[in-house]
Amino acid sequence: MSSLIASFWSLKRTQWADRATLREMQDSRLRRLIQRAYDHVGYYRRRFDSIGLKPHHIRGVSDLDKIPVTTKAELQAAPLRERINDEYPLDTLTAERTSGSTGQPFTAYFDSHFINVRNALFLRVLHNAGYRPGQKLMLVTGERKTSRPWMRWYYSSIESPAEQLAEEFARYRPSVLYGCMTPLREMAACLESLHHTTHRPSVVISTAESLDAATRNLLERVFGAPVYDIYGLTEMGLVAWECPAHNGYHLSEDTTIVEFIPDPNRNSSRLVMTNLELDSMPLIRFQTGDLAVPLGDDRPCSCGRHSRRIARVDGRMVDCIRTSREPLVSPYRLTLALEGVNGLDRYQILQERVDELIVRIEETGSDKQTVENSVRSALQKITGPQARIEVRFEGSLQPPDGRKFRVVECRIDRT
Ligand SMILES: [Zn+2]
Repeated sequence: MSSLIASFWSLKRTQWADRATLREMQDSRLRRLIQRAYDHVGYYRRRFDSIGLKPHHIRGVSDLDKIPVTTKAELQAAPLRERINDEYPLDTLTAERTSGSTGQPFTAYFDSHFINVRNALFLRVLHNAGYRPGQKLMLVTGERKTSRPWMRWYYSSIESPAEQLAEEFARYRPSVLYGCMTPLREMAACLESLHHTTHRPSVVISTAESLDAATRNLLERVFGAPVYDIYGLTEMGLVAWECPAHNGYHLSEDTTIVEFIPDPNRNSSRLVMTNLELDSMPLIRFQTGDLAVPLGDDRPCSCGRHSRRIARVDGRMVDCIRTSREPLVSPYRLTLALEGVNGLDRYQILQERVDELIVRIEETGSDKQTVENSVRSALQKITGPQARIEVRFEGSLQPPDGRKFRVVECRIDRT
């Protein structure tokens, strides 16, 4: 049984491993994972047996493609005890629901070792960005956690209005500001409009959605601090994070094997992951539902780390819109296309039918017709002329009650 501190010190060391060491670590942990999954998890045993695969056939990462990819839906369809290691009584595990807002709701069961590793991955990211114990940390997250004054960790909710978040920030004066991108952006815009720049944290860490260049600039300008973007999944922990070189996102290859499955229709790849630390409910070649672009440069980073990097996370497949020309258009491409539209501040793109987009735009006083024309022509370059684009101006765009605000939201049922 590992402790959080032991996991942290171990991860602090392994992030500097060279390629050969990383590969050796992945190979030996993978062999153990496969053997345990075969011996103790009905779902994998049946899966392997159905194609005549035995644990000794998997000698390392290079054999991974002998194992079929597993989707959330496939795991979900298996009886609960079939996907959980039979050595763990259910009441010893932590149940967590993931991706409930727009993705497929899924309940995962985590053992305490995995929870320690996941927390240690978070601490490693904080530490690498400059956080040290004892510093004030403000966390703007969807988790309903109680603040921990003895640690100087102050939790704010992503559901709070921007004005309240800005007020909490100005009052708490954190050294490190961590949070989901959208509330951070709104809070920054609010602080800027109030000309409230009396406090500057030493670092800002953004998570949960791909950070676009305009938002990064806004955060750097308002908070006067470097911005680190990170990417994680409940069932994997933090798997990609920026180092001080800010040249792509390092993958946590010491805890997770990340595969890029190229999508023939697109520039980005599907992220398929194997978690090397999760024993209670193994996730082997798990289709995360996220898209990313590999950096394409496997030389060591200038920071000295050898782990592979991704250029960017392209968002979740579930947030991709659909056109008759292209089955999956990443939200990133849409937001990138709209970055250059003057007078466009806050907006949301909704899709309910293929080849139809609704663009909700918060009124800013700019000429509506000009904004509408620019938005239409920018989007149509991506969707094609056959798509119908409806533009609606609204007083203010409020996030739906209890749900995350998504800049691009596809409501087409994909099941
Ligand atoms: Zn680096």
